[in-house]
Amino acid sequence: MKRIFFLMLAIGFPVFLLAQDEAPAQDTSWKHIYRATATKINDLVHTKLDVRFDYQKAWMYGKAWITLHPHFYPTDSLTLDAKGMDIREVALVRGGKNIPLHYSYDSAQLQIVLDKTYHADENYTVFINYVSRPNEVKEHGSDAITDAKGLYFINPTGADKDKPIQIWTQGETESNSVWFPTIDKPNQKTTEEIYMTVPAKYVTLSNGLLVSQKKNADGTRTDYWKMDLPHAPYLFFMGVGDYVIVKDHYKKLPVDYYVEKEYAPYARGIFGETPAMIGFYEKILGVPFAWPKYDQIVGRDYVSGAMENTTATLHQESAYQNARQLVDGNRWEEVIAHELFHQWFGDLVTTESWSNITLNESFADYSETLWDAFRHGKDAGDEKIESDREAYLSDPADEKLDLVRFYYADKEDVFDQVSYPKGGAILHMLHTWLGDSAFFKSLNLYLNTYRFKSTEAQQLRLAFESVTGEDLNWFWNEWYYGNGQPDLTINYDYSNGTERVIIDQTQTDAGIFKFPLAIDVYNGGASKTRYRVWVQDKSDTFYFPSATKPSLVNVDAEKVLLCRKTDNKSADEFEQQYKYGGNYMDRREALEYFADNKLSNLAMGLSDPYHGLRLLTLEKIEQSKGYSVPSVLATIESIADRDPDKLVQAKALEILVKLNDPKYEPLFQKYVNDSSYSVSGQALDGLMKLHPSEAYNLAKKYSKDAKGKLGEVVSKSIMANATEEDFDIVFKAFKDVPLSQAKIREAIQFGNYLATLKDSSHVREGVDAIMDTRNQVPEKYRKYVDPGIRPAFQKISQAQQSQGNTDLANYINGLLQ
Ligand SMILES: [Zn+2]
Repeated sequence: MKRIFFLMLAIGFPVFLLAQDEAPAQDTSWKHIYRATATKINDLVHTKLDVRFDYQKAWMYGKAWITLHPHFYPTDSLTLDAKGMDIREVALVRGGKNIPLHYSYDSAQLQIVLDKTYHADENYTVFINYVSRPNEVKEHGSDAITDAKGLYFINPTGADKDKPIQIWTQGETESNSVWFPTIDKPNQKTTEEIYMTVPAKYVTLSNGLLVSQKKNADGTRTDYWKMDLPHAPYLFFMGVGDYVIVKDHYKKLPVDYYVEKEYAPYARGIFGETPAMIGFYEKILGVPFAWPKYDQIVGRDYVSGAMENTTATLHQESAYQNARQLVDGNRWEEVIAHELFHQWFGDLVTTESWSNITLNESFADYSETLWDAFRHGKDAGDEKIESDREAYLSDPADEKLDLVRFYYADKEDVFDQVSYPKGGAILHMLHTWLGDSAFFKSLNLYLNTYRFKSTEAQQLRLAFESVTGEDLNWFWNEWYYGNGQPDLTINYDYSNGTERVIIDQTQTDAGIFKFPLAIDVYNGGASKTRYRVWVQDKSDTFYFPSATKPSLVNVDAEKVLLCRKTDNKSADEFEQQYKYGGNYMDRREALEYFADNKLSNLAMGLSDPYHGLRLLTLEKIEQSKGYSVPSVLATIESIADRDPDKLVQAKALEILVKLNDPKYEPLFQKYVNDSSYSVSGQALDGLMKLHPSEAYNLAKKYSKDAKGKLGEVVSKSIMANATEEDFDIVFKAFKDVPLSQAKIREAIQFGNYLATLKDSSHVREGVDAIMDTRNQVPEKYRKYVDPGIRPAFQKISQAQQSQGNTDLANYINGLLQ
């Protein structure tokens, strides 16, 4: 699953909102509840389902044939998870006959008394006739998924004319038992077949292969999907809707993209790297893609970022991008890589418990880094790892949590900044320290040993130990079963032909760490000697011979250690590090030092070969107003005119816009039609400041095709200038902005515009659209949204009241009470 903080960033809620979240009422009893792996009494073997949908009621009528056997000890009973169902029949299938069984049901679990005692080598099949009623299930969701209904009917009655009618499912963690009875635990695996009867106009998607389709007399069609390889129940998936299937392939493997018609022309632009990703992951892992096909589908109103259902990954709408958006880079590429890698780590080999979710999610997180480095260069991979480290270090509470988590309040809590980015960052350390060949050989052994099974983190350790011949308990104890990270203070001292490097560990929440470090000692320019040392005490001193004082000592020269650090180097030494260190982080650390100390060397970053560092430099210069230096401004002007990276160019334009200088008008004119929404949006913003009324005409013209920055500027301009006659344009501009923090800001502007209108039907329509937006924000964040919207609603309400529209005024007044 792609995590919530990803989702929140995707929809624009930054981490500071999360940080402001009040601490919930403290119930700490969970600290004493050991979360054991689920005991296997019965093992799932095969699951056969026959389902059809009632769109009016948002129900699903299901028949399930579930084949199992006792795991080891003989048993005469079976407990199945079945949430919120109406159970109509439970029987044992023998000789083609259904023999009724005694059972009890409490809305969560079905306790079945079998007809006799079964032994581990005896399969038996139970039949269950049931109705799934997802909207009647009361189970709270989590940060990662905003709900736990399992089965979702989107706009099922078609009441919303602007939204397609879709069905999709979300199993992780234990929600698929809302739509079929099963043992809903990650340490179970079952083969699967499913007959889905749907209105004939829709297409379906499920796990495995589509074996056959049969038209029915009543206007429906039955699709038969079959998955011959065992996988965990939480990875089962159904999708139904009006989709275009864009066909692609990797060698002979079908790789299809299910998208709404509007996005069919861009499906390859969005998902087209998938075959290359499969090839890349197969190559590094030495393990072929295990499944018979790989499909990806985009679901409306999806409750998480994306989910790695076996062979049928579901993405949220943020995946959709048109050609102009893709000019700025594919914002969904890492998610696509992440979910694909789960087909190995998660689907083929599955965590045995949510406590061990690192075995799924840390690998999926790290796969993004591996892909970025392969596809976009080492700097891009290093940038992703740095964003991981920053995400983890951004919340001190995370430093108290173990990666393997046997104690948690809720199973959803483990989908956090520890399991994902910290886990990714420690895999990067292990990879670097053991070397490419040992790392991937160990993963190969792990995958081949445990394919179609479930594992805990120790089994990963054993695979690494088997390949490297080394005892790796130290690493697992520190990073998997321990918390925190080293906080280092690094000091240097040179005298009498010896350079001393003193490394102190100052962390208080965790013990002392043991780890290897590469230290490069430079003697002028790029000439250096590399040393490898082990740090293992609260304070370690290392001695390096050097005839003269080194021009630079680069500690952690590979820049892989997950740590906080105070590195007491001089500005000259940081300049040497920028020039000769070579790694993304060598340069980034130097640029950050220059920025923090307001040094003019910062401008070196404007010509960095990596676009991400040029962007970072521009941001730092913007913060410090460093563009007031004429030579720096001249460089920014040239970046604004010809940087090969659109986001860098847009950032440079943004700085120039702030200067409000008429001499930039030709530059803004030149780029206001740019293919990149970011670039054209900044250019339009510049023109808006110089010539608001001209820009307003342009904004109206562009409003038909304005997303991202351009969309923001267009609606800002339109709302500031619009009259009553412009309602349709303004309304469309507002509706076209995807849910984001920018949209919340626009909702307020839009509300202020509505307060100027006379036409009460327009006002009502607009207010309802604002409420729709507000209601899409997960409940826990609405307290940050409502105070912004409320004053605008009051204004609208007063305006309506003064026109005598009391009913509408009262309606608006009542909305946010
Ligand atoms: Zn994931």
